[in-house]
Amino acid sequence: MNKIFQSLFILIIPLGNVFAAEKFADSHIHYNWDHRKETSSEEVVEILKQHNVGLTIVAGTPSELALELREKGGDWIIPFFSPYIHELGKRDWYLDEQVVKDAEQGLKDGLYYGIGEVHFMNGFKPKTDNRIFLQLIALAEEYQVPMMIHIDSGNEITFQKLCQANPKLRMIFAHAGGNLRPDHIEKILNSCDNVWVDFAARDPWRYDGISKPDHTLLPEWKKLVLKYPDRFITGTDPVWKVTRWSTWDTDDEGWTHYQKLYDYHWAWLNDLPADVRKKIAWQNTQILLKR
Ligand SMILES: [Zn+2]
Repeated sequence: MNKIFQSLFILIIPLGNVFAAEKFADSHIHYNWDHRKETSSEEVVEILKQHNVGLTIVAGTPSELALELREKGGDWIIPFFSPYIHELGKRDWYLDEQVVKDAEQGLKDGLYYGIGEVHFMNGFKPKTDNRIFLQLIALAEEYQVPMMIHIDSGNEITFQKLCQANPKLRMIFAHAGGNLRPDHIEKILNSCDNVWVDFAARDPWRYDGISKPDHTLLPEWKKLVLKYPDRFITGTDPVWKVTRWSTWDTDDEGWTHYQKLYDYHWAWLNDLPADVRKKIAWQNTQILLKR
């Protein structure tokens, strides 16, 4: 090996190791019935371990699949109670009193460490004044656990009202980078200290919206992240049936794409200053979960 090549080699290897060794809090994953047909819970745990995931927030459909993952993996897997308590629960959870009963029992038994993900889609039912949802908020406050909420609306007002009305409730604003632009998100961060923002599923293969072709953050998002480094978290969210190549009646192959989702998030994380990167990749989730 000639000298130049040797020094390059020495330089490259440790850098690679630093990144590879860094722990990742994958703060938004799902393990659903249609994943399970494709990838077993043991395989999911193995994938997470291989990628040095030291902490992960998981929601299942039905909800108890998140518990199965923790049972197989250990206490670094943090199950949230999903209001989707049966395979098609996403369609009717907001009408189903059983959701509240199951949530209360699961929290009382110490099985769940949060509630969510709950989706509110523009133009669809339910709205955030839904009776079941309000009861879930009350339970989250009673048991002092965070909630993961995905609100797809044209402006920040719906979410802002929610976080201002419940200042003691820790809330995750899931999937930032959609309709709400950085200036909307900034209003939420500014008015609610109890909110963390996640960039799950904003990779170019699904919803996109936060990054450039080289997978680093768009300038306006990077600026916001650097201004509020304590308030961002991220996750891979390996749900693949949202892509145009998938149909609703097939099994979800999402976990087989984990590597590229993981690489995508590290691409933009590695473009940030080291202290900010560590906060978003690891520390902020610890604080959010009060670990
Ligand atoms: Zn999700």
